[in-house]
Amino acid sequence: MKYISCESVALDAILGDHPLKSEISAVSRTYPFRLSASYAALIKECQDPVWRQCVPDPRELEDVEQQPDPLHEASLSPVPGLIHRYPDRVVMLVSSRCPVYCRFCMRKRMVGLQESALDANTLEAALEYIENSAAIRDVVLSGGDPLMLDDETLHYILSRLRKIGHVSLIRIGTRMPVTHPERITPQLCGMLKQFHPLYINTHFNHPEEVSDAASRACSRLADAGIPLGNQTVLLKGVNDDVDTMRALMMKLLSIRVRPYYIHQLDLVRGTAHFRTSVEKGLEVVRGLRGHVSGMAVPHYVIDLPGGKGKVALLPDQPEREGNVLTLTTYTGEKVVYADVVD
Ligand SMILES: *Cc1c(COP(=O)(O)O)cnc(C)c1O
Ligand code: SF4
Repeated sequence: MKYISCESVALDAILGDHPLKSEISAVSRTYPFRLSASYAALIKECQDPVWRQCVPDPRELEDVEQQPDPLHEASLSPVPGLIHRYPDRVVMLVSSRCPVYCRFCMRKRMVGLQESALDANTLEAALEYIENSAAIRDVVLSGGDPLMLDDETLHYILSRLRKIGHVSLIRIGTRMPVTHPERITPQLCGMLKQFHPLYINTHFNHPEEVSDAASRACSRLADAGIPLGNQTVLLKGVNDDVDTMRALMMKLLSIRVRPYYIHQLDLVRGTAHFRTSVEKGLEVVRGLRGHVSGMAVPHYVIDLPGGKGKVALLPDQPEREGNVLTLTTYTGEKVVYADVVD
């Protein structure tokens, strides 16, 4: 089980003579800092949307009210490294590293803190659990970033999963096209395409992240026949406005990535300064639906605390009187619709 190497930029090089240099460095002793050269190159200025996502903020340490693991992922873990919350699908945490440690990460409690890659015994136990659970049809590789594992390790995991008859779908959740697009090599794509149906959900949060290199990485994956989805996290000061989200969603479609989810930020300790209200999220969705191609409209979901699962939210609920529904159109008009009576 081996990680790839990935060139990183030192925090000092980014901070220069920033007035809060020592406070910012102190944060990285609790919540690790890591920044790839390619993601650093997207920073245009201090406090821009890319900077905010990757440079530590002293407010991370002030947020002590919230829990490190509000989704109870640890207690929903039948064996280490596996989260089994829904009957038919599991999440496998195959890596605890990433090219960039995003400051808002839902797994802030663990990313960059576990030293070694998943050890062989842990992996074996997780695979055995999946083999012995006939209800599991869908396995999501997550972490950390699964593509931090080298090709050989990934090949081993994917081969083992493909040998399990009841696992029909394999998904990889990765931010690599954004954080270290060089990782998406022709060799990697050639290997992945042997394991279809394989889906990749990537993670773009801002139109500035859709760089030429990111776009080439997504093209390679799409050319390998891998359907690409995107999960965006709603982040205050980064993408919590309609114009930014519209631009992001349209850019994603132009690189063959289909928006899948907009996530309300989880209530994870150390991330409170990124939190937006649900009303803000609904405003964003209201600004998408009907105004842009339906292909560009993801589901807006809250992953409920306590591991209760994801719930999708809609901006305008229909009002019902008997069999008559009053629905709100994208322009805000109320329209009456007569339903059939069953
Ligand atoms: C999000 C998630 C999944 C996958 O959910 P989908 O809605 O099918 O994408 C599976 N397991 C856990 C624990 C999750 O958090
Ligand atoms: S790439 Fe994903 S797992 Fe890694 S720090 Fe960012 S959000 Fe967390």
